[in-house]
Amino acid sequence: MRDLPGETSDPSTGSGTEGGPGSGLDGVRVVLLAGGAGGSTFAVGLRDVVAAAGGRLTVICNTADDLWVHGLRIQPDVDSMLYGLAGVKDPVRGWGRAGDSDRVSDELHAWGLGWDWFTLGDLDLGTHIARTSWLRDGAGVGEVVARLGRRWELGATLLPMTEDEVDTLVEFNDETIHFQEWWTRYRAQREPRRFANPGIERAQPAPGVVEAIAEADVIVFAPSNPVVSIGPILGIPGISDAIRAAEAPVVGVSPIIAGAAVRGMAEMCLQVVGAECSATGVAGLYGARGSGGLLDAWLVAEEDEAEAPRVAGLGIHPSVRPLWMKDVALTRALATDALTAALATR
Ligand code: GDP
Ligand code: CA
Repeated sequence: MRDLPGETSDPSTGSGTEGGPGSGLDGVRVVLLAGGAGGSTFAVGLRDVVAAAGGRLTVICNTADDLWVHGLRIQPDVDSMLYGLAGVKDPVRGWGRAGDSDRVSDELHAWGLGWDWFTLGDLDLGTHIARTSWLRDGAGVGEVVARLGRRWELGATLLPMTEDEVDTLVEFNDETIHFQEWWTRYRAQREPRRFANPGIERAQPAPGVVEAIAEADVIVFAPSNPVVSIGPILGIPGISDAIRAAEAPVVGVSPIIAGAAVRGMAEMCLQVVGAECSATGVAGLYGARGSGGLLDAWLVAEEDEAEAPRVAGLGIHPSVRPLWMKDVALTRALATDALTAALATR
């Protein structure tokens, strides 16, 4: 464990210098668990803060959204993270490459291939072709993600949660579809009976995942979908246990602000698992570390200040902060708040 903050800033009222000298974050080693859109937006701010402190960031990415399309392996969350950290993500759509075009997808549609609800950009397809050819040459998923990451200066180590193929399936009474179809085609509006990750009980954490968790000074749960982004990561045997056993404090950022998912479709996911769509509901899913769960601290939006006592009642330290990641400066401040709140629990 590195030197603690506490003297430098009060997590309940404000943040310290963002990762710079005197922030109490010198050399901090951080592990982030994350999905795609929310996860990669947060990761950019966290990367900046950790880099300014001379620390190290390892991102453990959800891979349960991964799928095969046209013989190519697609990793939606890994790619959002990769493009986000590289600064090449489309800022408007929030996924895919900036300035991309759809020439190849149009051509595939002319051949009667693909679906009208799913398009892959030309630059993006380059990534999928590179990934698939390395996989076919025998490289493991972790190695492939590392190779993708080497192209840009990411300022973080990117790890898939597992090298095994674990899908999130969405089950209805009459059929089962891949998560990607439910999310993209049905916009997560059609109510499923349940989510399933068949075979997850036999999956193993990717190389480096358990080690990074054990060596971390702070473990952070991104403001990602708790059910279909963070949920599968925690479902890989060994990952939750490694977090429980870690010396580092664990902090999460609520993806729910004022009772609604921000720019996301998490509401239905929470409903399906029977959780309340609120900051407290999500905190309750992760649970308090003191009672067999995972969280030491939880960042609650200013809009949800009234929920802080309920979070505290779960045995988790609430920290009421601005949670909107409207720009990089706000996201950096949020990342600093998360690290500070975590370290203040020790
Ligand atoms: P996905 O894999 O692309 O679905 O993305 P993630 O699971 O990483 O993130 C989706 C979640 O990010 C949504 O459920 C939103 O609630 C959350 N989110 C998006 N923008 C913000 C923001 O500005 N602040 C917070 N606190 N959460 C956000
Ligand atoms: Ca995702």
